[in-house]
Amino acid sequence: MDMIYIANKQNLPPFQADNDVCPVCHSDRYLNQSMKLFVSPCYHKMCESCIERLFSMGPAPCPICSQILRKTNFYQQVFEDLTVEKEIRIRARISKIFNRTQNEFKTLREYNDYLEMVEDITFRLLNNENVQETEEEIARYSQQHKDQISANLERQKREKRIEQLRKEQTEKEKDKNLEEYLEMIESEEKAKEDAKTDLITKLATSDKDAKEIIKENLITLKRSSMRQKSKNSQPGGYYSRPQYLDGLEESEDEEDVPINPFEDSYADIGNFTLKPSYVENNQIVKKALNPSGGFVQSMHYRYMLEAAFNGVDIPQL
Ligand SMILES: [Zn+2]
Ligand SMILES: [Zn+2]
Repeated sequence: MDMIYIANKQNLPPFQADNDVCPVCHSDRYLNQSMKLFVSPCYHKMCESCIERLFSMGPAPCPICSQILRKTNFYQQVFEDLTVEKEIRIRARISKIFNRTQNEFKTLREYNDYLEMVEDITFRLLNNENVQETEEEIARYSQQHKDQISANLERQKREKRIEQLRKEQTEKEKDKNLEEYLEMIESEEKAKEDAKTDLITKLATSDKDAKEIIKENLITLKRSSMRQKSKNSQPGGYYSRPQYLDGLEESEDEEDVPINPFEDSYADIGNFTLKPSYVENNQIVKKALNPSGGFVQSMHYRYMLEAAFNGVDIPQL
């Protein structure tokens, strides 16, 4: 069969039920598994062979309500409830004709009056009240506001297109940012790896003090990572961390990345000499100085001091 139906634009699958019956020829899905029901503009269902039989010779009356129909006016049913189907189609049709926006009106009052008129027309069509007059009213309005309607349709299309382009652009930028971010992580990892190899070689070959060599290595590592950061913040080679990596990166930090003993936070804070005891008169601090169970007092002092030095960000090297 070479029937042309109005395609359903939402790309939704057509609705089908096991107990479908064609109201015209009474064939049902039980007897005819491949039966396809279509809906007419007067919202009456009939099967493909009925449509072919009744309308292939040209326009003919609907066998249910006598409205004149064409074969090409039938469409596939999308919603189970035909009243929903009807309302959606009517509203879609009306919104294409009555497509004015609020900024086209001088006052809110005028805009509200306009909306009320549109709703009234929609209501009459939905409930089959004065359909003939309503259709004439719509036709009159379309004729009178022809230019305005098509201008508004054009504008809507343009806005939709712009919105789509903006979306595509955002997607592209997301991909680009992610790529740059991964590249940066990779090169930082490589720099760390190189520094480690370098350190091992130096430790094995140099006759300098091992502690000195480790310190030097840490400084080099810090410098190279700072260089990396400044390089990435330059305009042109810009880098902005993609927002959707928030959280994702955090969990990586905590769970997946192995502890790097060369990182600053694990370096020894050797800038203070631990006293055997501390005198403190402030009650709150005094309380904090008491070790919790299992801690030796001196160990507790060390933790407290280290925490304090870390807090005020005293240079560690
Ligand atoms: Zn039929
Ligand atoms: Zn009908």
